[in-house]
Amino acid sequence: MRAEVSPMSAAPAAGAPAALADLPALRDRALGAYLGLALGDALGATVEFMTPREIALRHGVHQQITGGGWLKLAPGQVTDDTTMSLALGEALLRGARDGRLHDTGLIAEAYVAWWRGKPVDCGNTCRRGIQRYLRDGSLAGPQSDGDGGNGALMRNLPAALATLGDDAAFVRVSLAQSHVTHHHPLSDAAVLGIGHALRALVVDGSVLRARAHLDALVRDLPVFRYAPYPRRASGYVVDTVQTVLHFYTSHDDFEDAVVGAVNQGDDADTTGALVGMLAGARCGAAALPSRWVSRLQPAVRRAITEQTEALLAMALRHRAPPPPA
Ligand code: MN
Ligand code: MN
Repeated sequence: MRAEVSPMSAAPAAGAPAALADLPALRDRALGAYLGLALGDALGATVEFMTPREIALRHGVHQQITGGGWLKLAPGQVTDDTTMSLALGEALLRGARDGRLHDTGLIAEAYVAWWRGKPVDCGNTCRRGIQRYLRDGSLAGPQSDGDGGNGALMRNLPAALATLGDDAAFVRVSLAQSHVTHHHPLSDAAVLGIGHALRALVVDGSVLRARAHLDALVRDLPVFRYAPYPRRASGYVVDTVQTVLHFYTSHDDFEDAVVGAVNQGDDADTTGALVGMLAGARCGAAALPSRWVSRLQPAVRRAITEQTEALLAMALRHRAPPPPA
């Protein structure tokens, strides 16, 4: 379903919604994005680092959440893409509670706690950044060619939700959380471009406005062009963005888009997660495939549902004042 008629249309201008968390449609799209992220992660992890040919030989078309993969996951278990997002969201909520709104120190501490909790996986760049913070307390590494992975992009959803209604805060928080582990101009551009598209989907329910943000990203940085699709799905942020945008834009249906992305293999949990996030915001939580949602580990589903509500409430409390008339 493509809703161009915004439930916000009778409300104040986009960006300063009057009752952000009270709108059932907006909440459904926000939850659709977060659950969609976890579904793509859980589905894709089974075939992470496989080639499309290996996937076809073993699974035909991989389309059931079964666990397994190189991480030997339980069915419905998620990986760092989802659990680092939850860690970021918790840090943002704690900051809002404790009078330390958008505090990057709390975010870095949350990544440390996440890492010490022995996550099932942790990317090399994330580990390096967390270790640098532990060593010298710095909240950002220097810009580095080695930081062009997708690790900051994969976990930014909570920053987009916590700052709905305040675009300047969205940019600030997104770049700050990214630079704890990833400091690279293409990572930054992807985090902001895909984040703006996600926010347009969630706040306005507008597929067209979201698409305009994605088109702007590709126009400003042609390295992200995805047509014709180059068929690389690695953890390099350029390959990831091309794969995500190709499958998100070429399928209206949530399941078709996510299945297409994960069957490209390679960093399949992360491309699946990001396609799931955008396509889940587009269709809303109520339209997600129930056989997948019921497979997600109950604790993960609960954590996502509670955190989505709390982040929207936070966004409502801290949204930017309306511009002067
Ligand atoms: Mn992962
Ligand atoms: Mn991955």
